[in-house]
Amino acid sequence: MSKLKILFATSEMAPWVKTGGLGDVCAALPAALRQAGQDIRVLLPHYPALQAAFPAALPVAELPSLAPALPAARLLAAEAAGLPLLLLDCPEIYANPGNPYLDSYGDDRYDNPIRFGLLARVAALLGQAHSPIGWQADVVHANDWQSALAAAYLHYEGGAASVVTVHNIAFQGCFAHGYLAGLGLPRHAWRFDGVEYHGQLSFLKAGLQFASQITTVSPTYAREIQDEQFGYGLAPLLRYRAASLRGILNGIDTLLWNPASDHALAHPYSARQLAGKQQNKAALQQEMGLEVSAEQPLFGVISRMTEQKGLDLLLAIADGLAELPAQLVVLGSGDAALEAGFLALAARHPGRIAVKLCFDEGLAHRIEAGADSFLMPSRFEPCGLNQMYSLHYGTPPVVHATGGLADTVVDVGEATLANRTANGFVIAEATAPALWAAMQRVCRSWQDRRLWQQIQHNGMQRDFSWSQAARDYLELYRDALHAPRVATG
Ligand code: ADP
Repeated sequence: MSKLKILFATSEMAPWVKTGGLGDVCAALPAALRQAGQDIRVLLPHYPALQAAFPAALPVAELPSLAPALPAARLLAAEAAGLPLLLLDCPEIYANPGNPYLDSYGDDRYDNPIRFGLLARVAALLGQAHSPIGWQADVVHANDWQSALAAAYLHYEGGAASVVTVHNIAFQGCFAHGYLAGLGLPRHAWRFDGVEYHGQLSFLKAGLQFASQITTVSPTYAREIQDEQFGYGLAPLLRYRAASLRGILNGIDTLLWNPASDHALAHPYSARQLAGKQQNKAALQQEMGLEVSAEQPLFGVISRMTEQKGLDLLLAIADGLAELPAQLVVLGSGDAALEAGFLALAARHPGRIAVKLCFDEGLAHRIEAGADSFLMPSRFEPCGLNQMYSLHYGTPPVVHATGGLADTVVDVGEATLANRTANGFVIAEATAPALWAAMQRVCRSWQDRRLWQQIQHNGMQRDFSWSQAARDYLELYRDALHAPRVATG
């Protein structure tokens, strides 16, 4: 089959700019598609972290102002391990260091509609006949609200087929009506079946309205977001577009996340040589100031601290850990009340509970390796990466049956042990009592070494590499090319 020209637009790319799973996916998926022989280029803003990483990036195009509110910019070309990057250079909006969406006070950056309006506008341009680099994408693949508006530009102006992937529907990029003209969208786009959404210009809604194909990051989440409870207001539109919506489960980067070759670990290990895991546990206990003990299981958490992740449920019961008995290590940051709650919890249980409030990639790896079981009681979870890292690291997770957690974790039971699929502990409801009961089950199962090893092995043997997802995305791109154009305003 002929090579496809794919423009992959993103606001995050690990390891340079990452606030969560989006950054991981937007590094690994383009790399997997490139390996599959496709002509893929990644477009992302030229943030300070990228300036530092690619000082020799070369200018390949000057972009004039593309709409009244959009500043002139440049495109620079660089390569990340063979993967072509197009860095959208516009210092007046992208030169601020730190979180790509929030200012130093934790508020949305005031110029987000311009920062990501420009990203989307340029993504669309690279899929149009007058592409400034002499290369026109067949498919423009946008990710979340930050680039989703590209599908609307392509609809109104013509050009490549478009794909919008929803990594988390809770974030929608809604801005004032005034940006419509400023971003160069036509006046007639302001309608119910255009870019308007409850009196605002919604980047994500516009993308979902006009994308040739829509994906999300797990089959269960693709069903859930058509339901009011999970759809954050967009469920009716997604039901309307259901024939063009599918869920493709994310993979994990098995080069970065491999317990046998993980540079962050003092003691590499594998499914056949699990002994190293015990040494990583002792090292983690020491690093975090916990009592060094092999006699009780150690639970791990690595998470953004938000309502979504259900960590308040853990806070409600964690004072009982001594009863199990078990230890807990938490790495995360976010919501101030949750942060304070976990700090106070750790202060009440020195040696048993340790909490670190920061973003620490190395420690995240050491927790995946050193913990016995990983806790992820998310209220909703589009795909989730940490439960897959946990399975891969022989750290059976406890999860709520939602989104990608439901698609990857198989509850330990008689039938699932018999057919060797049992790999973790699933709670039907995201409640504190259900979480507590699951943690009790973990502790009982952990005492039975043979049973525990079987659960670990079942998880470690499952293939979470990106190659299957890359094949599914390729099929999706071909479907996008053949999709009839959406017949609306
Ligand atoms: P989400 O994208 O909703 O945050 P995911 O499970 O899909 O959740 O991805 C989270 C990613 O971010 C994982 O790679 C995880 O290891 C990482 N992560 C989250 N918080 C931290 C932290 N405090 N330190 C290091 N890594 C973190």
